[in-house]
Amino acid sequence: MPDNFAVPLLHRKPMLLPLTKAFVVLASFSLLVSVIWLIWDARQTRLDEARSASENLAAALAQHAEDTLKAADTVLLGLAERLEVDGQEPNRMPRLQRFMQQRVQELPDLQSLLAFDREGNWLTSSYGARMQDHDNTDRGYFKWHREHEDSHVYISPPLPGRSSGEWVIPVTRRLNDNEGRFNGVVVASVRVNYFQQVYQTLDIKYHGFISLSLNDGTVLVRQPPSADNGLLSNTLPSQQNSGSFRLMENGRKRMYSYRRLERYPLVVITALTQDEVLANWRTEAAMQIVVVVILIVLLNLFGFYLLHLIKGELETHRALQQARDHLAEQRLQLEKLALEDELTGLANRRHFMAHLNEELRRARRARQPLALLMLDVDLFKQYNDLYGHSGGDQCLRQVAKVLRMGQNRPGDLAARYGGEEFCLLLSATDSSGAARVAEKIRQTLEQRAISHGASPLGILTISIGVHALYPQKDTAQEAGETLLQCADAALYQAKAGGRNRVVVYRDEY
Ligand code: GH3
Ligand code: MG
Ligand code: MG
Repeated sequence: MPDNFAVPLLHRKPMLLPLTKAFVVLASFSLLVSVIWLIWDARQTRLDEARSASENLAAALAQHAEDTLKAADTVLLGLAERLEVDGQEPNRMPRLQRFMQQRVQELPDLQSLLAFDREGNWLTSSYGARMQDHDNTDRGYFKWHREHEDSHVYISPPLPGRSSGEWVIPVTRRLNDNEGRFNGVVVASVRVNYFQQVYQTLDIKYHGFISLSLNDGTVLVRQPPSADNGLLSNTLPSQQNSGSFRLMENGRKRMYSYRRLERYPLVVITALTQDEVLANWRTEAAMQIVVVVILIVLLNLFGFYLLHLIKGELETHRALQQARDHLAEQRLQLEKLALEDELTGLANRRHFMAHLNEELRRARRARQPLALLMLDVDLFKQYNDLYGHSGGDQCLRQVAKVLRMGQNRPGDLAARYGGEEFCLLLSATDSSGAARVAEKIRQTLEQRAISHGASPLGILTISIGVHALYPQKDTAQEAGETLLQCADAALYQAKAGGRNRVVVYRDEY
């Protein structure tokens, strides 16, 4: 089986497992971080948009208030001019009254126009009739104009109109006589409701508000009227005409924008609560978080399931490899068993014959001699009879041990040829060399002095036949047979000659 056969990728690249884990964790983390960043960025965008919208709203409402007051003021200027130039004689009043009525009809924000003399008596009004029963000297604006020579328009806090009860903002101018002394007041009553109707159409959410105030903090109009006080105009930075900022009020963060009117001492304030501005953003952010968390969970489940599968494959591969190694070991064992003699551990006859052929071919190529020793235990039948079959086996193992010592070169091989007969093949060895080896083996066994009660010498001995040849043109098989036959013939001679000896084959055998 080739080594890289079906080897899992992870087995070849072990860093892949921790790297994959790190990738899953890192991907989840960056997904989370990027969505948080996006959500935070969306929050900033929302707040910026809300600020810009409220600034625009404050600017538009300031312009609206400016235009409204300017229209009322223009009418007042006309009235004052007529009263100052034409005088306050009663016969002038009907014409002035018609003028007033026409202006009030033209301008929907004007509730009424009034004119008083220096005593606070009605001169005329857009109502048509003189209303003698009201003393107007107690009105704040009347006192103010009487005491100030200032020719500017004066805007008072809202009050309920005396005739109609409707809340109005009195816009007033002082009348002077020829010598510049106080000579009465002209009043344009601007409807509070006119502003409120406009403010009501604007979306400032539940906790937001819009106010139109005097610079001193007096609120003229407020939408919704029930809103808490919030920021007052007298706390705004006096040097700046417009601006926006955020303030924490009663645990609620408000985004304020303000814009001062150019001609009049008034300021428009718009307020939105941050919670309401961010309400939609919160819902969207929650949904995004849920989606991302689901994605991360899926990514992790899938990633770790994949890792689990890969690990499983790795385990299977390891088990397979173990089984393969085990099989290879068993096969080696079997191969060894097929080539080895079970009793002595020497090569068996089959192994010996195969090796003999190989060595013959090699010797012929190298032009070297090859020698064979054929051994037979002397009087072994009697040994068996005397010491039993297992004693005989034990004895054969001893002989094998001695014979094994004769193997010195890589091509040498000791084998059990059959029964109590053994062979020793000696490569690159001629017959005299082989005879020396044979003699040494014989003597070694003799020196071991394994007792043999049935032998005349009293110890176990062996006889050895030796033959060596230079393999030539013959086929390996023929040369092998010659070698075996000749060694066997020499062994026969050794037995015939009295046993316990080495005989080298000669032609006459
Ligand atoms: P010789 O000196 O002429 O060789 O006499 P021998 O008694 O050894 O005669 P032979 O070689 O014919 O005897 C072979 C005997 O070896 C026959 C058998 O009882 C014994 N033998 C053969 N194989 C085994 C074996 O594996 N174990 C044992 N214990 N005895 C065996
Ligand atoms: Mg024999
Ligand atoms: Mg024998």
